[in-house]
This record gives sequence, structure tokens and C-alpha cells, in this order.
Amino acid sequence: MIQAAASSPKKLKALLADDDAGIQLTLGALLEQKGYVVSTVNNGIEAVEALTHDEFDIVLLDIRMPQMDGFEACKSIRELEKGKNLPILMLTGQDDTESIKKAFEVGATDFVAKPISFVLLGFRIDYIMRASNIAEELRNSQQRSNNAQRIADLGHIEWNADREIVHCSNGIREILLLPEQAKFTHFDHFIDCVHPDDKDRVVASISQSLLNGNALNLEHRVVRSDGSVRFVLQISEDRLGSKKPDRMVVTLQDITDRIDTEKKLHELAYYDDLTGLPNRSLLIQHLDRTLKSALRYQTTTAVIVFGVEKFDKLVESLDHDSAENLIKMIAERVKNSCRESDLLSRESVGNQAGENISYHQLTAKLRNDEFVIVLSEVSSPQAASMFLHRLMEQFEQAFRVNDRKIYVKTTAGISLAPLDGNSTNQLIKFAEIAKGSVNNENPEGFRYFKRELNDQVTRNFSLAHDLRKALQQETLEVYYQPKVSLLDNTLVGVEALCRWNHPTLGEISPTEFIAIAEDEGLIGELGGWVLRTACNQLLKWKTEFDYDFGVSINISPKQLLDEQAMKRIVDYISASPINNEIIEFELTESTLLANFESSLNILNQFIKMGCGLAIDDFGTGYSSLSYLGKLPAKTLKIDKSFIHSIDPNNQYTAIVSGIVKLAHSLGMTVIAEGVETDVQKAILARAHCDEIQGSLASLPLSPQDFANWLNSWEVRRMDADSKNKIRGPITKWH
Ligand code: C2E
Ligand code: MG
Ligand code: MG
Repeated sequence: MIQAAASSPKKLKALLADDDAGIQLTLGALLEQKGYVVSTVNNGIEAVEALTHDEFDIVLLDIRMPQMDGFEACKSIRELEKGKNLPILMLTGQDDTESIKKAFEVGATDFVAKPISFVLLGFRIDYIMRASNIAEELRNSQQRSNNAQRIADLGHIEWNADREIVHCSNGIREILLLPEQAKFTHFDHFIDCVHPDDKDRVVASISQSLLNGNALNLEHRVVRSDGSVRFVLQISEDRLGSKKPDRMVVTLQDITDRIDTEKKLHELAYYDDLTGLPNRSLLIQHLDRTLKSALRYQTTTAVIVFGVEKFDKLVESLDHDSAENLIKMIAERVKNSCRESDLLSRESVGNQAGENISYHQLTAKLRNDEFVIVLSEVSSPQAASMFLHRLMEQFEQAFRVNDRKIYVKTTAGISLAPLDGNSTNQLIKFAEIAKGSVNNENPEGFRYFKRELNDQVTRNFSLAHDLRKALQQETLEVYYQPKVSLLDNTLVGVEALCRWNHPTLGEISPTEFIAIAEDEGLIGELGGWVLRTACNQLLKWKTEFDYDFGVSINISPKQLLDEQAMKRIVDYISASPINNEIIEFELTESTLLANFESSLNILNQFIKMGCGLAIDDFGTGYSSLSYLGKLPAKTLKIDKSFIHSIDPNNQYTAIVSGIVKLAHSLGMTVIAEGVETDVQKAILARAHCDEIQGSLASLPLSPQDFANWLNSWEVRRMDADSKNKIRGPITKWH
């Protein structure tokens, strides 16, 4: 065999099989002249043998050869993998049509009749090689296209107007997992593979497209031969302008993976991965749709914001897994009470009157401790409260986390469309506002939204902003209200009360802005400022009037829980030149009791430093006298609402008297707040109350007005004392 030089371009190789040495020589020379590397063999067996071991680009076979003739050899070559597409030229006898026919039957590419015209043979070979190259390219391109279709899970199918399948690619068989022997010649065979639920739609669309030539773009399911279900996309070209509208080529693509991915993405985008509940995005979409349809059909929608109170505190003591577990269990209970957790379910509950109340519902998770439940097509606004009663009942039982029982308190707010509005975000906000306004006066734990609540929220929002500014610019003020001894009318101290004269809204009540300061986390700063201002003022008055009197500072419940703020107070008092004993902190009874254990440390620090503690507003909170002894307080302030109710003949007088006695037995001083009349003062004196505070002595005063008041009070008091000879001289208060 002739070897081609490694560096020269690859030479084509020809195999020449002929037992005629002359032909071998002449034909061999011709082929070499055309640039072929020629191998010659003498019979069919050698030819097949040569092909199994070597590669050739063309084979020339004589028909008549010993041992194995050309026909046999051609057949054998075609059976070889590499011989399938090889150009084979048969050398036949002149006009031997039988042989020519047979040659084609056994797979010859072409023939040349002997005696050979070398000129013609040269052209023939060129032609065969060119055709072979084209065929090879076509095969490659076909292969590439098949590969591409397989990779893209594509197949195509063609049917005619009679609905016969005229072509079906391998891709289709692969998509449908069609067995080799499966009959797939008619449109109906294809329709047999379509999912039963999609059949009508698919038949209708394809029939329509066959009829009018419109393009097809259809997603549906198919059931494969192994029973598995796949999603496919069917696309056909627009054949409106086509000359042959009776044919239709359809591309089929398996889009199951895409649909699965889309589903996963959808879940990620619209569902909470911890609880599996719809998230805020899905809630908004759902509520948008619900409200639109509610508007059209004039139905009522209820939006419920439902949450667990003090959840952050609750999970503080839990590790991450337990906290997640608790969230899941909470979500589970919400789901359970909704019976079906899925997007929509029809619920029907009976009300007390036995009438059925119904609604559709969606439950979504807003935050770890907050859920939104949308009840649509609500048959009566009452349905929302019925629903909440049932839901809240579920939360009466404790949760078990790490062998611990955890009880949670739930609250909820309800807004209604169209009553409260038709905007998705607003309805959620309104329900949140209603939830935020739930207080002790709502034993059920939920409230319906009211317009006034929103006005309040808007006002609070702007007040919060202005209060922050007022604190920065120190435009708040401290007023002082005298506390007077009932024994000798001496001034025993003042209560420092914060005032805010808003630039446009005027005086804002401390009850209002203190609550805002608490909500906005400003109470520590505000309380600290009041304390510093009051202490500085007291130091000033000390030099001015030459005697000390006490100052009471209010501490709000949230302020007491702010460890940093309380530490700053301790630090300030320790460093201040003021006599610690003149400072008294006022805390309400409920504040003290609710935070007894956690607050005891800080309260004891105050006491150790010499400061006093007073129980403020006594009678409004738990009013549990038995608790008094447990509190390290030395003063009890009876709330003004009690004092306003006393009159010589009613039971309040006896109650006040009882409170005074009890407080005295515990070694406490009693002061009555809001004393406005001489009658009240007289009753309190008879009940042995120690001190009074209220408009009878004076309302809270600015520092300047207080100085004026003090001067005149002392003059009047001295005057009265000397006239009535009631009690001795002004006692210095230490
Ligand atoms: P409180 O500590 O019980 O203060 C007594 C309230 O009674 C004051 O209301 C005072 O003006 C009012 N009052 C005084 N005498 C009379 C009277 O004869 N009749 C009537 N009807 N009321 C009288 P104010 O100043 O509006 O303060 C309300 C509440 O705001 C205070 O109640 C206190 O809890 C809180 N507060 C005021 N300033 C501060 C502060 O600086 N810090 C904290 N944490 N709370 C404060
Ligand atoms: Mg007070
Ligand atoms: Mg009070």
C-alpha cells in the first residue's frame, strides 16, 4: 500500500479489485494520475478484507472475479459499518443490463461498462466523489440537526389535510417514548398520546389551524407510553400565504423541565419557604384580583391581619431551630383553622342565629409572627369575627417546644372592602392599624378598622417626626406641679411634667406624645432630658429659695425596660451634685408588677443611691393592695379619678380611707392626685392622707410661674398659719 507523506494534504485512497492485471495497471495509473493512492486486489474476498483493515474513499469492483465476484463483494462491503456510504463503482460488461441492474440492487453507486473509456471514467469518478461528498455533508447536517433537536427535546411531525402523518422525526418518537412497532401514521395516533384533559382543546386548535392556515402555538400535556406525563409546546408556521395549505408541519418541544423550573421559581417567588404559605407578593396579587371582582359583583371582602404578641421576646430564649419550629407550628394552626391551606377554599360557618356565613379565603404570611387572611365574597361582615373566634380558639392551647409549654397571645385587626376602601395596600394597612389599636377594652383580641384610627395613625406619624426634631432642638419644656403637705401646707416637692408646645398644633397632651415617644424608641432620650432639666432647675431654686424640695420624675413602662436608658439615668444621678434623696421616681402600679423581676435590679439601684420610688395612678391598674408590700416604694399616689369621685357620703371616701390606712401600715406616704376642691381636701385630711397635688394648690407651672407661685404660696401659707395657728414654721425638707 502506498503511504501518503505526513506533511502533504491528505490523499484520497482508492481500492481497485480486478483479476485482470492489465486493468489493474491502466486503471491504477489513471487513478494515481487523478491523485489517488491506489491499492489493488485480485478478488472480492481480498477487497472485503482490505476494507476491514484500511480506510478508502472509493472502491472499483470488477463484476467477474474468482472466489468472490463483484456482486458478492459489494453486498459484503455494504454490510460493513464503514462501507455503508462508500462510493462503489462496478465494472460491468457492455450492454449487460442484467448485471447493471443487479449491481444497483447490491448497492453499487454507479457502473462503468467495459471496454473502459478512460476519459469517461475520469469524469465518472469525479462525479461520484462529488455526489458522495454532498451526501456526506447532508448526512452530517442531518445528524447535527437531529442532535440539536434531541438536545432541545424537539421533534417535528407533518400531516396532510386527510390527517395522515406524512413525516415524523425521531424526536417525536423520543418525546412520546413511542415503541418502534407503534403505529403512528394518522393524526388520531398523535391525539391518542395527548392527555385526556387537554384532548378537546388540542383537537379543536389543530383542526382550526388545518382549516384556516393560522399558526399554532399550544401548550399541553402528553401521556407517554410508560404512563409518564410531559408538557409539550406545539408550534406550527402560519400557512395563510402558502401554496399548499393542506399540509401542516408542527414542531413539538418537550418543555417539562421549563415548566418544572417555572413552578419552582413561582414557589420561591410566591410562597414562604418555611411555612409553605403564600407570601406578601402572592397576597397582593390575589387581593388585587379579589377586589376587582368584588367591585364588579358588589361583594364584600374582609382583610384580617392576625399576629402573635411580643413574638420577639418569646423567641429570645429559643435557639434558631426551635424558633423556626414554633413559627411552623403557629402557621400550622392558622392553616388548620382555615381547614384548607390552599389558595381558595369555600368555608361555611354558622353564627349564633344559626344562619350560615360563607366566604372564600386566602392565608398568607407577612412576617414570622403576622399573617394576613383574605376572606372574599363574605356573606356578612360578621363572618370575619366568627372566623377569628374560631382561629383564636386554636391558640388557647400551649405550643410544645423542647418539652416546654409556650402560650401565645394573639391579636387581630379587620378591614372591610368596600366599606373602608378598595386599595389593596390600604386595606392591609387599615387592618394592621386596627390590630395595633387592640387594647384591654377589647377582650376578644381583635377590632374592626375605623376611620378615626387612621386619622390617629397619620397624626402619630407626623407627630413622631416632629417630636424627634423637638428633642434634638430641645424645644420641649418641663413644668412643675407642687405637692403640698396636708399636715402643714408646706411645699414638699414638685412633679416634673413634660410639655410640648407644637409649632403649629399647639399644646400636645403628654399622654399622647409620651405614647409616641415609647413607640418610636425616643422615651429613653426624653426621660433623660426631663431628669437633667428638672435636676438643673432644682439646683437653681435651691440657691434661689434656700431650701430643698423634692422632685418627682415619671418613668414610663417602656423606659423602664430600656436598660441603656436606665443605666444613663443611674450614671447621671451618681455624677450630679444634686442630693439624691430629693429625687423620686414615679412608676405606675401595673408597670411595676408586669416587670417586677426584671426591673427589681434597677429599682434597687435607685433605692441604694437614696432615691425614692412612688406608685403612680394607684387605683387605675390592678388595684391589688396585697402586692403593695412587695414593691420597694415609699410613696403611694392615689389616682385623680378616685379623688374626683369622693364625696362625703359615698363609698369612695371609705375606700380612700382604707387605702391610706393600708399604705401607712406598710410605712408608705400617701399623696392624692388631682385635688381640685376644698371638700376633697377636707375628706383627704380626715382620711389622714399625707399630701395633695392638684389644681387646688396649683396646676403644673413653668419655672418662672412656679417661682412666683412659691413666693405667694409661702406668704399665704404663713399668713393662714399665723391666723389659724395650725402648725409650726416652714420645715426644710431633706
Ligand atoms: P401623671 O404622672 O399622673 O401626672 C399627673 C397628671 O395630672 C398631669 O397630667 C397633671 O397635669 C394632671 N393634673 C394635675 N392636677 C390636676 C387636677 O387638679 N385635675 C386634673 N384633672 N388633672 C390634674 P399631664 O401633665 O397631662 O400628664 C399626663 C401624664 O403624662 C402623667 O400622668 C404622666 O404619666 C405622663 N407624663 C408627663 N410628663 C412625663 C414625663 O416627663 N415622663 C413620663 N414618662 N411621663 C410623663
Ligand atoms: Mg406622675
Ligand atoms: Mg398620676
